[in-house]
Amino acid sequence: MRYLSGREEEEAIHFIRTAADVAKNATCIRAKCGSVIVNKGEIIGSGFNSPPAGLESQRRCSIPKNTYDIKVTDKTCCVHAEQRAIMDALSRNPDKIKGSRLYFIRLDKSGNNEKAGKPYCTICSKMALDSGISEFVLWHEKGVCVYDTQEYNSLSYNYKSGSNDKYTSEYFLEINNRPFNAINAGTKKIEVRAPTEHNKHVKFMELKQGDVIIFENNETKNRLKAEVIGVRHYKDARSLLESEGTLKTLSSGGNIEQGIKSINSIPGYEESIKLNGVYAIEIKRYVNNKDFSTGL
Ligand SMILES: [Zn+2]
Ligand SMILES: [Zn+2]
Repeated sequence: MRYLSGREEEEAIHFIRTAADVAKNATCIRAKCGSVIVNKGEIIGSGFNSPPAGLESQRRCSIPKNTYDIKVTDKTCCVHAEQRAIMDALSRNPDKIKGSRLYFIRLDKSGNNEKAGKPYCTICSKMALDSGISEFVLWHEKGVCVYDTQEYNSLSYNYKSGSNDKYTSEYFLEINNRPFNAINAGTKKIEVRAPTEHNKHVKFMELKQGDVIIFENNETKNRLKAEVIGVRHYKDARSLLESEGTLKTLSSGGNIEQGIKSINSIPGYEESIKLNGVYAIEIKRYVNNKDFSTGL
């Protein structure tokens, strides 16, 4: 990878702006993205993200990703802008793809260009490489950066989410009625989780500030959205409760001894905690998300 400067950077920004114009056509509800593919100054393909074939019947934008089975390989809702641009170039200019360069931009909620994080989309990275595109261009906080498509594909597969990652993740967890109501009321601020078969779609140690958890009430099926403030790991339920306090943690209002009992009574928890320890997930309920307060 290398950062561009001077005339090279100016030229790249020109094409990124063109990609941003393309992104205005995006109909995905989660994000608006645009992409153009350029060979020798000529745009040979372009695309924006929207449901496959533009079909409303295939729209998945509002389905939480973690409700999909582990075997579902692509959990994103729409066809990506880069995928579309590649298909467009393949159908209109197949002989010009070799040696071309792909530009990508994502728009924020107000329609302004959003600076990209590190490469992570392996769907697009391998498709770009396989189709013969030579370079992939992203606009980072530090400047416009060009990657060789082989390097881009390796980086995407080696991506690790961390605290400086600008994209947040969304998780889906089922929860019992009483703690659900306590989170909803704002009295429960610490959710206690241990890895079990039931929870295996969420790696609790990877949760980070700003991530979103959608809790679904086991009984009523109502949902609420909460933001992750932080995650702390403890060796057992006692050390968790001693450190986090029972008031913010237990929806039962019980003391530490009662809390330990109730945490260990959750199916699979006692065994799992012995092996893996237990996580305190500090959360804040989303207040401006009316859609989620009544269930979807
Ligand atoms: Zn979408
Ligand atoms: Zn992609």
